[in-house]
Amino acid sequence: MSEQFSVTEIFGENVFNDSVMMERLPKKVYKKLHEVIESGAELDLPTADVIAHEMKEWAIEKGATHYTHWFQPLTGVTAEKHDAFITAPMDNGKVLMSFSGKELIKGEPDASSFPSGGLRATFEARGYTAWDCTSPAFVRHDAEGATLFIPTAFCSYTGEALDQKTPLLRSMEAVNTQALRMLRALGNTTSKKVTPSVGGEQEYFIVDRQKYLQRKDLIFTGRTLFGAMPPKGQEMDDHYFGSIRDRIVAFMRDVNKELWKLGVSAKTQHNEVAPAQHELAPIYAECNVATDHNQLVMETLKKIAYRHDLHCLLHEKPFAGVNGSGKHNNWSLTTDDGINLLDPGKTPHENIQFLLVLVCILKAVDEHSDLLRASAADVGNDHRLGADEAPPAILSVFLGEQLEDVIEQLVSTGEATHSLQEQVLETGVSTLPDFKKDATDRNRTSPFAFTGNKFEFRMVGSKDSLALPNVVLNTIAAEAFSEAADILEKADDVSEACHDLIKKYASEHQRIIFNGNGYADEWVKEAEKRGLPNIKNMVDAVPAFATDKAAALFEKFGVFTKTELDSRVEIEYETYAKTINIEAKAMIDIASKQIIPAVIKYTTTLANSINAVKAACDADVSVQTELLIEASDLLSDVKVALAKLSDVEEKGSKMEGGREQAVYFRDEVVTAMEALRTPVDKLEMIVDKDMWPMPSYGDLMFEV
Ligand code: ADP
Ligand code: MG
Repeated sequence: MSEQFSVTEIFGENVFNDSVMMERLPKKVYKKLHEVIESGAELDLPTADVIAHEMKEWAIEKGATHYTHWFQPLTGVTAEKHDAFITAPMDNGKVLMSFSGKELIKGEPDASSFPSGGLRATFEARGYTAWDCTSPAFVRHDAEGATLFIPTAFCSYTGEALDQKTPLLRSMEAVNTQALRMLRALGNTTSKKVTPSVGGEQEYFIVDRQKYLQRKDLIFTGRTLFGAMPPKGQEMDDHYFGSIRDRIVAFMRDVNKELWKLGVSAKTQHNEVAPAQHELAPIYAECNVATDHNQLVMETLKKIAYRHDLHCLLHEKPFAGVNGSGKHNNWSLTTDDGINLLDPGKTPHENIQFLLVLVCILKAVDEHSDLLRASAADVGNDHRLGADEAPPAILSVFLGEQLEDVIEQLVSTGEATHSLQEQVLETGVSTLPDFKKDATDRNRTSPFAFTGNKFEFRMVGSKDSLALPNVVLNTIAAEAFSEAADILEKADDVSEACHDLIKKYASEHQRIIFNGNGYADEWVKEAEKRGLPNIKNMVDAVPAFATDKAAALFEKFGVFTKTELDSRVEIEYETYAKTINIEAKAMIDIASKQIIPAVIKYTTTLANSINAVKAACDADVSVQTELLIEASDLLSDVKVALAKLSDVEEKGSKMEGGREQAVYFRDEVVTAMEALRTPVDKLEMIVDKDMWPMPSYGDLMFEV
């Protein structure tokens, strides 16, 4: 048994949160900071100095010697550069511990080593990190000691966003402004702020670290590039929600403890569909905080796994043929006075405000489904979206029976007069209570599902930041709200105008609603008839950010400039080509240095054995001979496929970046990789297990 601890006592103990600030900051400073947080105004230097000093004192009490501005450049991971709190040595040779307001609110990391997608060529290499005072600072302990982490946004010298955070904060402001306009037009005079809330469910795989270290593909690319299916996969459905193994429980316990100390409200954990796959979900928080927290979740999973001699795989598809990992982005909009704009109430047909918000979101998703799809585009996610698993690459919205019925009434008669009510689910056992069935139901195959009082965007990749999907969600919602507000503000009869709008949007965008099975082939055909895009891979998804329509949208709400969008598109293509290139090189390396030698060894042993048996007794050696021929044939297939892959990889890596290179990698290199994998996986089924140079799928997934 590990040590006992009190959750309520440790929760947030390493966070410079509101209660710590209230306790430690002078009243005036505390008030000032709150004004800044609430109004988005700028913090003055004298106030920042006081906060920095108190933050430093607090961090030192927690054992911190360093501080870092923590940011999310476009590398896919977070970045940190640690500085000690010390001042220059004084005359007596001693130093002081200091931390100024200037150091708190602004940092200057060298931007030249982070992806900028061309922004660097035209602008200065200098970059700035700026404190995001709406996401609390925290102290993180490591083997060496402790560091104060300050969540920041990262921009270029001329103010272009070089990170995930800046556009996210901009999009939160946009949706706040436009949602408030719409609420005001509807007669709401009390709400002062609308905030997007996000709950990110994180899926991941856990494997034994010693086995992981024997797989170069996992080490270099995060996924297996070779591997035959084990005799048992997920077909028995016995892993999902199954009892969690002791070793994993111990790991999860440490993960939770670490996250709780950092103020991340890790709440739910369970086994996922695939063997060795698990999920962790925190309680939802404000969009930017939830995004930061998800980064902490991913980093903590990795770190704690290491301590338990385990390894956490965050890749979307670590194992071919087995369920992949995603991240469900639960999203809702709440006012500062506690109204969830996505709460339908018991009788949604009477809830005009809810209906307007709902149809605005239908409109937003329908008009910008390409952007949402692109926001979830990732090299690893290409193995999920549009491949044989959840969710499909076609964006549609699941509303559930009750809301679909309300929309149906609106579209057909212009009026919604009733709402289907939840039914009682009779268990048939007298000692069990009868449940009320959820009127919104559940649909696991939908990429964008209404689940009670929130939308759940399920396309996001497991290792991706939650930022971009929420940038898109917030901005497209802002646009729909702004258009509705434009009309309502001018209307003589608001109630009539609102009613007309609801009917109009519901009719115009009904095609995006789909409550059926998203995996079925019929849906692919049906979606095509409806004109819904089916974008199967990242390379084809990315151009959505380069359209004039996208530029007009993001510029109107001040979320991205055209230049920033173009730079992101550039980075996405580059990331795609680089990632596939690494995978191709890893495959070439593994096939040449591990697999071919192993097969040669196996065939030689087999040949020797055939000769020995023949010499000894002239017995029937047809089985051995057949195996030898089969293995030798496959070996020559491997050699041919390897030569082809080496050839296209070399060509691809010499190409100039951009779309053309990405397309080449997708069409030529990925195809050549698949061609190499096929004979290798067949060989794995033939070659003596002791001679196979790496642990199998079965070893990785079932021996944790
Ligand atoms: P699932 O059935 O998909 O596992 P859960 O009910 O466990 O769904 O919730 C998943 C996530 O949704 C959790 O992170 C939860 O905090 C979050 N969530 C719940 N309500 C809201 C809301 N109103 N807005 C945003 N996220 C929410
Ligand atoms: Mg979910």
